[in-house]
Amino acid sequence: MSNRREFLKYAALFGTAATTLSSVSSSFGDEPEKIPANSNGNTYTVNMNPIMRTPPPPPRTITIPDVDGFKVLKGDFHIHTLFSDGQVMPRDRVIEAVDNGLDVIAITDHIEYRPFFSKAGRWKLNDEQANNFNLWYEIAKSEADQRKLLLVRGAEITKSTMPPGHFNALFANDNNPIAAAVDDWRTMLKVSIDQGAFLLWNHPGWQAPKSGGIEQGAPLRFTDAHEEIYKLEQMHGIEIFNYKEHYPVVSDWCNERNLALFANSDIHPSELEAYGIQNPLRPITLVLAKERTVESVKEAFFAKRTIAWAANILWGRDPWLPALFKASVNIKAGTPGTFELTNTSSLPISVTIGGTIFDLPKNIKRQVYRAEGVQTLTVTNWMIGMNKPLEIPVNV
Ligand SMILES: [Zn+2]
Ligand SMILES: [Zn+2]
Repeated sequence: MSNRREFLKYAALFGTAATTLSSVSSSFGDEPEKIPANSNGNTYTVNMNPIMRTPPPPPRTITIPDVDGFKVLKGDFHIHTLFSDGQVMPRDRVIEAVDNGLDVIAITDHIEYRPFFSKAGRWKLNDEQANNFNLWYEIAKSEADQRKLLLVRGAEITKSTMPPGHFNALFANDNNPIAAAVDDWRTMLKVSIDQGAFLLWNHPGWQAPKSGGIEQGAPLRFTDAHEEIYKLEQMHGIEIFNYKEHYPVVSDWCNERNLALFANSDIHPSELEAYGIQNPLRPITLVLAKERTVESVKEAFFAKRTIAWAANILWGRDPWLPALFKASVNIKAGTPGTFELTNTSSLPISVTIGGTIFDLPKNIKRQVYRAEGVQTLTVTNWMIGMNKPLEIPVNV
């Protein structure tokens, strides 16, 4: 503030906070006689709340009906914070997740790479903190509990070469024994398995040219190391979406080897910087869980009841992808020669029947002409295999 006179002018503005914006602006040019008081008669602290009219938007609502008795939880199981090379605190990840309408997240900071908060990083931790690889989980937990977000303990095993690349250990009881084995990735995976952890192969397209060829951003085949990990039952799922990448070949791998599909953000900057606010295209892993609990999420993972969703595309496996469609879309006979389709979910759905493609926005009834002999509809953006969109029999 340039001088006392200016100060008085601004004090007058804030003091008239209860008035409308137009009267505030018309009063701008007037010289105040004295510093006005707020409603408490206080001229020292003036409450500006009434003129700050930009409340944050309510959290995103994602509506998905139950599927065969399972709740469909929305999750992200690959997230970084300042405790490795992410750029926000664990608490902020909880707030971002709630804002995005998620039910469950895992913060998966790197074990091997911690340039920010650590013993040798930009901001020094003491020995006890630096040697605690559960710290990001512990810091986020009370915030998650308060906001009713489920939090899964996680860490990213981060080898600088491919293979084996990067694996998330999820649901371990304690990340510290995994970190203690840092010199040998085979031991890290084994220690994770011994704790009952779920192991996820992250971003399989990373360094793909070194791993035997590249196809649409992903390696063409499992490397010998990945075959070994798979045969030891130390791989339970693979990311088909990671951040802004997509690896369609993962669909066939997961179908052939009975693995779970994931769509994770692997987010490092703030959500605002990475995707913007409540971006409907951001990756989300749908989990068909018995209950809305961490235990149920774990059970669903090992039963491979996940569906990967990002950029208006869903990838899933039999029988869960068709089951999700049947739960979400009502198909009824309409007037003679037509169907009526209604999508009751927030999921993006494009279908084609007899050559015409159309979208099914939420809760909008679509009347569709049925060509003679047409027995199935094709869901063009829901994929159940490589180049294999979901087909739904129509028998109404
Ligand atoms: Zn990674
Ligand atoms: Zn990562």
